[in-house]
Amino acid sequence: MARYHIETYGCTSNRGESREIERRLRDAGHHEVEGPADADVAILNTCTVVEKTERNMLRRAEELADETADLIVTGCMALAQGGEFADADVDAQVLHWDDVPEAVTNGECPTTTPDAEPILDGVVGILPIARGCMSNCSYCITKQATGRVDSPPVEANVEKARALVHAGAKEIRITGQDTGVYGWDNGERKLPELLERIATDIEGDFRVRVGMANPGGVHGIREELAAVFAEHDEIYNFLHAPVQSGSDDVLEDMRRQHEVSQYLDIVETFDDYLDEWTLSTDFIVGFPTEDDEDHEQSMDLLRETRPEKINVTRFSKRPGTDAADMKGLGGQTKKDRSKAMTDLKMDVVAAAYESMVGTRRDVLVVEEGTGDSVKCYDGSYRQVIVQNATDHGLEPGDFATVEVTGHQTVYAFAEPVASLAAEDDDRASTTAD
Ligand code: SF4
Repeated sequence: MARYHIETYGCTSNRGESREIERRLRDAGHHEVEGPADADVAILNTCTVVEKTERNMLRRAEELADETADLIVTGCMALAQGGEFADADVDAQVLHWDDVPEAVTNGECPTTTPDAEPILDGVVGILPIARGCMSNCSYCITKQATGRVDSPPVEANVEKARALVHAGAKEIRITGQDTGVYGWDNGERKLPELLERIATDIEGDFRVRVGMANPGGVHGIREELAAVFAEHDEIYNFLHAPVQSGSDDVLEDMRRQHEVSQYLDIVETFDDYLDEWTLSTDFIVGFPTEDDEDHEQSMDLLRETRPEKINVTRFSKRPGTDAADMKGLGGQTKKDRSKAMTDLKMDVVAAAYESMVGTRRDVLVVEEGTGDSVKCYDGSYRQVIVQNATDHGLEPGDFATVEVTGHQTVYAFAEPVASLAAEDDDRASTTAD
């Protein structure tokens, strides 16, 4: 539960994106504070109409990076010219609007309230499968609000998923503080069984995204989980397993209940089972006991496992937690480490999107984008934008095969294969004439 500050520039569409970000942040238990100095994270939703606006955006980003613990830059300039923030040496995470709420974590798991019921938002169904977690992380304030894991039976969650699909859901997002420990309170971890049941028992065309699962919970079920992913196209090949550090000493001080080797076991198992999948992870930089060598171990782990979605959070003290009583690192040290890791992250993510260019993928259209575009996800939950959606006859809920034609900092562009084939036919007939 982090304290945030948000600033929005530009058109009504940008303001709409900010309202949506704020709604999701409030639903997750985060709260807005007066100004950037009181915030754990500042969000700058940018505009890029003219050059003067760009200069203003860069200057404001520099100011916010100095004033607050973490800075997230999103919006049009971030997406079209995200590299400029790194070029100007601004320590910020550059993210698509959709990815901002998840990145505002302060290293803690998302909040799921005890009475959380499924929600249908367009064609996206949110299904909280359990609440609480099995851990007691030393930096976490969420735990104080949510308590031990409490899992309803598999059957109850399958019925909720079925109701969502009948109501029009095409993408079911399975959520919880820690989905990997679902069922642990009843003696057996049940996430693989739940996914198997949803994929086989529910009729219809839909996709399932598994939400955050800590490595400690996933490690013991990694084979069953990877096997269910491999067997069912309904389940996105996407795993969000926040490692938080590449140093076992720091993980112990964080009381994370996993070791680096267990995280590596998970990655290796998913590599064995799946030809293509997306690893998403989180790192906390500047934890009070993290020394230079620990930080280098985190950097090495990022280089080695090359996750395609990475949240980097600068450590900040949360009241009432054990980590708040530890002697902290200097602000400049945290800033330098965060900048180094964010730069590395941008390189890794850009290489992943670059590798998609020229490939064909089956995607689900999940929602409308800006202008006449639609946001889609491929089987590994990578975001793909298709422009001129009306001409292509695409709308949320549709499935399509697309060819990736380019990429920006945090998403790819694509054209439907059917449209490319029609263009080829037109060219062929023009040449023949
Ligand atoms: S797993 Fe750790 S960070 Fe997540 S809610 Fe539990 S105690 Fe907090």
